Amino acid sequence: MRAYRIAAIAGDGIGQEVLPEGLRVLEAAARRFAIELTVTRFDWASCDYYLQHGQMMPDDWFDTLQGFDAIYFGAVGMPEQVPDHVSLWGSLLKFRRQFDQYVNLRPVRLLPGVPCPLANRQPGDIDFLVVRENTEGEYSAVGGRMFEGTERELVLQQSIFTRHGVDRILHHAFALAQSRPRKKLTAATKSNGIAVSMPYWDERVAAVAQHYPDVQWERQHVDILAARFVLQPDRFDVVVASNLFGDILSDLGPACTGTIGLAASANLNPERRFPSLFEPVHGSAPDIFGKNIANPIAMIWSGALMLDFLGHSQGPCRAAHDAIMQAIESVLLSGPLTADLGGKASTTELGQAIVDVVMHSP
Ligand code: ATP
Ligand code: MG
Repeated sequence: MRAYRIAAIAGDGIGQEVLPEGLRVLEAAARRFAIELTVTRFDWASCDYYLQHGQMMPDDWFDTLQGFDAIYFGAVGMPEQVPDHVSLWGSLLKFRRQFDQYVNLRPVRLLPGVPCPLANRQPGDIDFLVVRENTEGEYSAVGGRMFEGTERELVLQQSIFTRHGVDRILHHAFALAQSRPRKKLTAATKSNGIAVSMPYWDERVAAVAQHYPDVQWERQHVDILAARFVLQPDRFDVVVASNLFGDILSDLGPACTGTIGLAASANLNPERRFPSLFEPVHGSAPDIFGKNIANPIAMIWSGALMLDFLGHSQGPCRAAHDAIMQAIESVLLSGPLTADLGGKASTTELGQAIVDVVMHSP
């Protein structure tokens, strides 16, 4: 069996507190399920590195990371010292683009014991995936200003949708839907208002759907779709969206299931030509950094996603993923819990509790 090589990057703020907990859980799961992991830690892609070197990462970052199977990433940003656009564009966004991580995946699942901000929802009612296109679409730098400073001032911003880019995200989402029990897919659109790109997106959804005859699919305008996340979250299974719509939906989804300290994400290069990246949805949370009170579950859940991806959702990696998720659920019910979940435990105590369950559960 080959060893999986993981590049671990803590980054800034609570990234430095939650990453070690994620690694402890990964190492426990690897030991229990006889998975060979080698973890190499890097202290760059952080604002501390930037303050010393004037750049977020060394020049050879691409070649260095290219040798790994996955990147396990904490958080980036120290907005008091380094503007967010510098830290973000100098690290995370470079990874996403240059490693062609075109799938951004966020599970939205209400876990037991977690107070749900939506009324009358039980675990099991909310269990879907948001699949966001991560490389093109509305987020482009194409456009410009005309007649600046005059009454006729005019700004144009182009969206870019390519057949290649649209089809590959749709194929990924349909295949995911096909692999899940409910086999349902909802595509976010806005073709009633955006008259060129969104009708094209709709057309490609219908075309790609032909390859997945057993998937039940629908299109929904993103405005009502967002409302239904709140009103009828039980109707969703896999939700696929363009870059902008996916950005919004993939924040709204996890927000419907409780604290940001739980939300996990994956940035995937499904062809595995480049390493994929696994990170909590939350940021570096400078307001709570240094107190050892951050919730490590989002980081730990992201690690479970990483194992599942590395093992193609099969074998010992799948078993390790399931064991980690069960451990998270059991500790959410029994404690100890961090402050965001209403408890008094530290980051380390919650991490240790999950390690213990992973190691010793039947
Ligand atoms: P970024 O721009 O890097 O996303 P942000 O300031 O916009 O950062 P977060 O860093 O995610 O957002 O913080 C938002 C709020 O959520 C903060 O009050 C923070 O303390 C809280 N928070 C974030 N992550 C956690 C966590 N793991 N545990 C507890 N609270 C958290
Ligand atoms: Mg922010």
